[in-house]
Amino acid sequence: MQDDSFDRAQRLIHRLRERLPQPTRRDVIRAAFAFSAAGIAASLLPKPAWASGFEPPRFTGYPFTLGVASGYPRADGVSLWTRLAPEPLQPDGGMVPDMIHLGWEIASDDKFAKVVHKGSVRAVPELAHSVHVDVRGLEPGRWYWYRFTCGDEVSPIGRTRTAEAIGAKLDRLRFAVASCQHYEQAYFSAHRHLLDENLDLMFFVGDYIYESNWGDDLVRRHVGPEADTLARYRVRHAQYKTDCDLQQIHAAVPWAFTWDDHEVENDYAGAQSENLDPSFLLRRAAAYQAFFEHMPVPLTMRPHANEMRIYDTLDYGDLARFYLVDNRQYRAPQVCPDPYKGGGSTDVMASQCPELKDPSRSMLGATQERWLEQRFAASRAQWNVIAQQTIFSRFGGLRDDEMSAWTDGWDGYPATRERVVTSLQAHAVRNPVILGGDIHATVVANVHREAGNPESAKVAAEFCGTSLASQGWSEDMFNPRLPQNPHVQFGNTTKRGYIAFDIGHRGCDARLRVLDNEKQRDTGITTLASFRVEDGKAGVDKV
Ligand code: FE
Ligand code: CA
Repeated sequence: MQDDSFDRAQRLIHRLRERLPQPTRRDVIRAAFAFSAAGIAASLLPKPAWASGFEPPRFTGYPFTLGVASGYPRADGVSLWTRLAPEPLQPDGGMVPDMIHLGWEIASDDKFAKVVHKGSVRAVPELAHSVHVDVRGLEPGRWYWYRFTCGDEVSPIGRTRTAEAIGAKLDRLRFAVASCQHYEQAYFSAHRHLLDENLDLMFFVGDYIYESNWGDDLVRRHVGPEADTLARYRVRHAQYKTDCDLQQIHAAVPWAFTWDDHEVENDYAGAQSENLDPSFLLRRAAAYQAFFEHMPVPLTMRPHANEMRIYDTLDYGDLARFYLVDNRQYRAPQVCPDPYKGGGSTDVMASQCPELKDPSRSMLGATQERWLEQRFAASRAQWNVIAQQTIFSRFGGLRDDEMSAWTDGWDGYPATRERVVTSLQAHAVRNPVILGGDIHATVVANVHREAGNPESAKVAAEFCGTSLASQGWSEDMFNPRLPQNPHVQFGNTTKRGYIAFDIGHRGCDARLRVLDNEKQRDTGITTLASFRVEDGKAGVDKV
């Protein structure tokens, strides 16, 4: 499915653009543009006649510095994204506060000989001149190519793929899951290697950006202080999107998302911040808006009344249904917090924190729990893949014969976990596979009927992926927990990377892909371990 000419063109554009000076000053950009790869690419492309009705806008530099992206594949369409930002590290992106018309087109070939749909879309300063186009009327299960134009400027070309229609015969699906990409702590080399995985789609399950600046042996720096305003979240998102490895994988396959805490603030829970900031909802709204402005999410996900509904399902024929679950926006506050902070996570003992088991607390919120149960009940898919933020299985540490519970993870919301497992069983959901991230370590586990009781029935397979770039926790802390949690089949905290999946009718294969050295941009990648989930057999086997 990989298209070589597409790859070559994208790599050329990015290689050339990388030689440019850092886009910090207007004059540098203006001078450089005449020689930039984007300029060369634009000059090779025909001018779209349909764009000629508009007054051509003038930019201080190439406006598509953040690339293009697509997401949320449906059988009949996909969502396209770009943002005009000639100066991406400026809060306004280097744009004057005017509305601007862009053209978009999507073709069934990479030369745009067969354009199947095109249109125009407005970029407004209120949304940082980002645009989202929900294209419909496409054919199921095939690749498309898309681009944007604005005046004389043409964006890089993106490639995307629609999902298969319900009822269609689909034999194979390849996807990957990643999480936690702290820009300062490592390069995004894993994204470059994802280009070679022949993916149909890509899942990112949280901590796409980090609001704060921290870590050991930093390889590069965030621009500006901690993000806590719309302007700062915009700059933070834009800086991440300037990474060429990230841009390329966005331009190569469609993505789907859930988020975790660092898209807003460490350890926030619903409307409550870690430090009980009374104006936290304003900060959260700013972060959600910047997230919307920078992600290839459907227009329908635009934040509304302080909420951004991102939970959703994606269907790939009768082979797979993906559930994108949001366990951050609607959760009850973490129990038994550190009294000096007022909120946020701790490690607690259930005997000292009876509220932990309060069944009225929800990690998903009642509405989303009902929705999830309804989607489980209605699923006809052979594989049911739940993409969510954090480790689902019990993963405590033994202290004085008692197991600790980390209050930010599912161990902190045991009643919700119990309800999800009950629901999976009650609706006989076929082949459940749970994906997660957040813990900056890999944990592959069998999910049992009773959390942590390996004698109880196996209900699902869990793959909690390591961080793509964020630093792991110490082996001294992590490794002793492995034998203390016998449902865990594999664990590793030293390696960064992603998990690549290949689903077919007989089984689901998973490879833990890990970087040799995430602090080096040109690092290699290897497979740390491989696993298989057999059709009709709950749980996971090492292969
Ligand atoms: Fe993280
Ligand atoms: Ca956290």
